Amino acid sequence: MNFREIRAKFIDFFKERGHQVVGSSSLIPREDPSLLFTNAGMVQFKGLYLGTERRSYSRAVTSQKCVRAGGKHNDLENVGYTGRHHTFFEMLGNFSFGDYFKVEAIQWAWELLTEGYKLPADKLWASVYKDDDEAFDIWEKQIGVPADRIVRLGEKDNFWVMGDTGPCGPCSEIIIDQGEEVGCGRSECGPGCECDRYLEIWNLVFTQFDRDPQGNLTPLASPNIDTGMGLERIAAVVQGVTSNYDTDLFRDIISFTENIAEKRYGDHARQDVSFRVISDHSRAAAFLICDGVLPSNEGRGYVLRRIIRRALRFGMVLGIRDPFLHRVAGRVIDNMGEDYPELLSSRGFIEGITLNEEKRFAATLYHGMKILQDSIEEVKEQREVTIPGAVLFKLYDTYGLSPDIVQDVAREENLRVDLEGFDHAMARQRSMSQESWKGSGEEEMPAVYRDLANRGVASDFLGHESLAAAAQVTAVLREAREVPSAEAGERVEVILDRTPFYGEAGGQVGDKGWLSGDGMQVKVTNTLKFGDNLIVHQGEVEQGTLTPGARVEARVNEEERTATALNHTATHLLHAALREILGPHVKQAGSLVLPQRFRFDFSHFSQVDHETLKEVESVVNRQIRMNLPLSTQVLSREEALKTGAMAIFEERYGEQVRLVQVGEGVSMELCGGTHAQRTGDIGFFKVLSESAVGANVRRIEAVTGQAALEYAQSQEDEVRTLAFLLKTSPDQLEDRVERLLKDQKQKDRELESLRAKLLTKQSGDILEGIREVQGAKVLVRQVEAESPKELRDFADRVKEKLQSGVIVLGAKKDDKAMLLCMVTDDLVGRFKAGQIISRLSEMVGGKGGGRPDMAQGGGSKPEELGRALEEVVRILESSR
Ligand SMILES: [Zn+2]
Ligand SMILES: [Zn+2]
Repeated sequence: MNFREIRAKFIDFFKERGHQVVGSSSLIPREDPSLLFTNAGMVQFKGLYLGTERRSYSRAVTSQKCVRAGGKHNDLENVGYTGRHHTFFEMLGNFSFGDYFKVEAIQWAWELLTEGYKLPADKLWASVYKDDDEAFDIWEKQIGVPADRIVRLGEKDNFWVMGDTGPCGPCSEIIIDQGEEVGCGRSECGPGCECDRYLEIWNLVFTQFDRDPQGNLTPLASPNIDTGMGLERIAAVVQGVTSNYDTDLFRDIISFTENIAEKRYGDHARQDVSFRVISDHSRAAAFLICDGVLPSNEGRGYVLRRIIRRALRFGMVLGIRDPFLHRVAGRVIDNMGEDYPELLSSRGFIEGITLNEEKRFAATLYHGMKILQDSIEEVKEQREVTIPGAVLFKLYDTYGLSPDIVQDVAREENLRVDLEGFDHAMARQRSMSQESWKGSGEEEMPAVYRDLANRGVASDFLGHESLAAAAQVTAVLREAREVPSAEAGERVEVILDRTPFYGEAGGQVGDKGWLSGDGMQVKVTNTLKFGDNLIVHQGEVEQGTLTPGARVEARVNEEERTATALNHTATHLLHAALREILGPHVKQAGSLVLPQRFRFDFSHFSQVDHETLKEVESVVNRQIRMNLPLSTQVLSREEALKTGAMAIFEERYGEQVRLVQVGEGVSMELCGGTHAQRTGDIGFFKVLSESAVGANVRRIEAVTGQAALEYAQSQEDEVRTLAFLLKTSPDQLEDRVERLLKDQKQKDRELESLRAKLLTKQSGDILEGIREVQGAKVLVRQVEAESPKELRDFADRVKEKLQSGVIVLGAKKDDKAMLLCMVTDDLVGRFKAGQIISRLSEMVGGKGGGRPDMAQGGGSKPEELGRALEEVVRILESSR
């Protein structure tokens, strides 16, 4: 049976027994922020176990994508060294939510293994929790497993808990005896032994208790079943191999890597580790990137980065020089695309991200490994066995070598690594960077606002409906202090009980406008928002006296607000268009929405070329012309997330969120910003630029409405000016420029050949002017040269012809004089080029000097050059 048949057999077996076939959930657990990755089949059913969710079925069967790396369940550093550990694997599982219980779970598991997979019944063992007599009896009396092949194990092995409290219960594991020959041979070897002989293949969890904070167990009214069997492991057992890497899940990926490395799996134990690591990690990388994880320095992204980099280091061990992992990931997609079609539709993205990371890491890997080798030598010389934490930190911080990689190398050298020391160094750096960050005042709510918020001061935001409103002043602040009044000319911060002013949030800038009433006017220059509903108007009292309690008319600058709203709506359209054209991996990574223009940052792995940008512009402008209506709905956060709307990472969502929709699902985003009524209001959308702002994050800057028109007009003006300067019309401009460039090239060529002729002529007759001074050949000349370098090239040529002598050259260039002196090696004992040049430079009003054999100088009096050169012979005669 191949892996696909093994998986299908499991799913079909339970489907026939009334189970709903449920697809694998994402590797990013949406419902559980405490979990790094989905690491078991039950993760997507957590709500059912906790009783917070109901579904239409009470039995389910899944094949779930899982990753165990980083966090509590971390197998990363073991992967490659054993035949059983993986970062990515598939978990087959059947589930009962208050439906069937132990009897069925055990009976079906036995039936599937012995009849479905035809495993020999006499080689199967069962383990049960030490107090679970019920399970013991089922195994012995109903299934007929002899009592001496049923073992009772303790809490560590056979009791499952979801967390410190909540659902929990005993487990029962089915174990296969693979035979003495694969065992450790020790007399105490048995189920639970670390060796490969007794292999656990299927874990059945009987969730029958609720644990309270004191540790008391209360039986659940309706107990649940949750089982898990690793596909890789059962495939190895069914296919009769002792390593998961020898199953058809891995063989093809390994042989693909064999071809790249031009080495064979099985030849050397050390190389085999590399093959296993690469085949495992390429699977993890492909599936993680597919589910939206991108390499970064924290959280999930950091785990992915470690996985990719660890694989690259093992590629280096195999002697692979060029980027290769993206190709192996591509092979994973070939192999698994049939089972997980999302891989196929994200192929370009997965390969692109992997290749980017390979390129980023290539240079530092090479240098980092050298530094690591040096450190290892040092440790060995000092007869130590541990690589210190400080070294680990440096390798990580400077070269991006994560401790797992160092650990792999250390293992090959029989050394240990000081992980604790690394953690200390890391924590120290973190606290240092946090301290330097505190001063910037970002993110933290200033104390004065915190006090106000704690007192219950808040403002109703009316700005979605209106741009002007009557309101009452609740507080006036000057220099971060509450004051009883403020006079004309003073800078203030004002808080109102209700306001149409939008406080800066979600990338959209704060409103400007006026507060006025009773001979008093405040010009508002910015509006901030703190917490959920503290809105602070910043500005200056222009006339009158402002006091708390005063009634005012609050009026937003309508022109700017409208322009901002158009731009905000355009970001939503742009977001949707990018996802449509580039793919669903595009996610907003940040934005800044101003009245004049906006920028939009998003995740993508490569430059968006000009043609694609034009396509994006077309899509957005088409939606503008369709004049689609915008609608907003206020929903609870849970309801809103269920609609599938885009939630933006940079935004913090309260319990109530606004769902902003364009047309019928053209775009759906959770957004508190202000928007146009209809897309047609935007008028016109134009991209200004596209650039990179980080690894895998791109930025688009764009304009809309009046600003877009002005941009187009200014572009046209520029073209007209250029045409005017080139004495032609805009439509002839291209022809004209092409002709000019051709002429220019022709002239460059002519100029070059003339200069070459001139130089040859000069150096040709130069030897005619040689004189003899004190038995040495001396050449003094004024020549044509454009730069000191040209002068030097010229002198070099003369020196070659002269072989022995002193050369002094001068040249005029603009209003400067250049000088150079060369003395051949045989004469440096008698004449010093540096001294000669410093004398001559003085005469032309400048400075100069250099070595005895070669010196350069010059000055600002080119008219003195001739006189200076005439002095050379005299200088040489006097130097002896
Ligand atoms: Zn053993
Ligand atoms: Zn928005």
